[in-house]
Amino acid sequence: MKENVQQILDHFHIEQFQHDLIHWFVKEQRDLPWRKEKDPYKIWVSEVMLQQTRVDTVIPYFYKFIEKFPTLDALAEAEEKEVLKAWEGLRYYSRIRNLHAAVKEVKEKYDGCVPASKEQFSSLKGVGPYTTGAVLSIAYDIPEPAVDGNVMRVLSRIFYITDDIAKGSTRKKFEQLVSCIIAHDNPSDFNQALMELGALICTPKSPSCFLCPVQRHCRAFAEGAEGKLPVKTKGKAPKHVSFRAIVGTGGRVRCSIF
Ligand code: SF4
Repeated sequence: MKENVQQILDHFHIEQFQHDLIHWFVKEQRDLPWRKEKDPYKIWVSEVMLQQTRVDTVIPYFYKFIEKFPTLDALAEAEEKEVLKAWEGLRYYSRIRNLHAAVKEVKEKYDGCVPASKEQFSSLKGVGPYTTGAVLSIAYDIPEPAVDGNVMRVLSRIFYITDDIAKGSTRKKFEQLVSCIIAHDNPSDFNQALMELGALICTPKSPSCFLCPVQRHCRAFAEGAEGKLPVKTKGKAPKHVSFRAIVGTGGRVRCSIF
């Protein structure tokens, strides 16, 4: 039987967990360029770059991009050709096209200020629930959940949740869970700490449980089950199709599917 969020939180020491997690993050966090200031535009750019791309790869692109477009206005006013050129090498060009369209909208509608309202920010092009939570919490200290695959893996283990993380309903459950446990006095560090824990300690394979700052809260560790989580079903297997090649006269090849 799947538990609801209230049942999951029974006997969980939320304040102690927040303290252990944030205390570790403050001491151990990586020195990343987008963490140097709380500029919502730069945090937004970094979050878009980090989708499907590793931190080490993103860092030099981030410096180059911010040097060329240091402000939201500079990016909004730039020609698409220039913007695509600065993105060259990061692939997934729809991400930068959407960001470019979104910052133009911010310049027009909100006078160039990234909106701190969930409704307004999440309605911008290419902005989904994860980006909304990440930018609003990190830049504006708004206690919004930022749940991606990394965070779902970490929380599946801490709370021993066996729901399939490939399902949209599971992501919603994790968002509700984070809304209940997020530190309202420091949502920025709380969300970043969960992401950092997933990147450095609670990694997909062989998590470093003996170095983990929240080990005493972790139900999967207590059961020796961290290697079984998260549960994730694979997508449908590709349909098997057989081909028969018939070589005709003149060396022409005809294929039939059977
Ligand atoms: S104890 Fe291990 S499984 Fe649990 S959160 Fe820490 S690293 Fe992950």
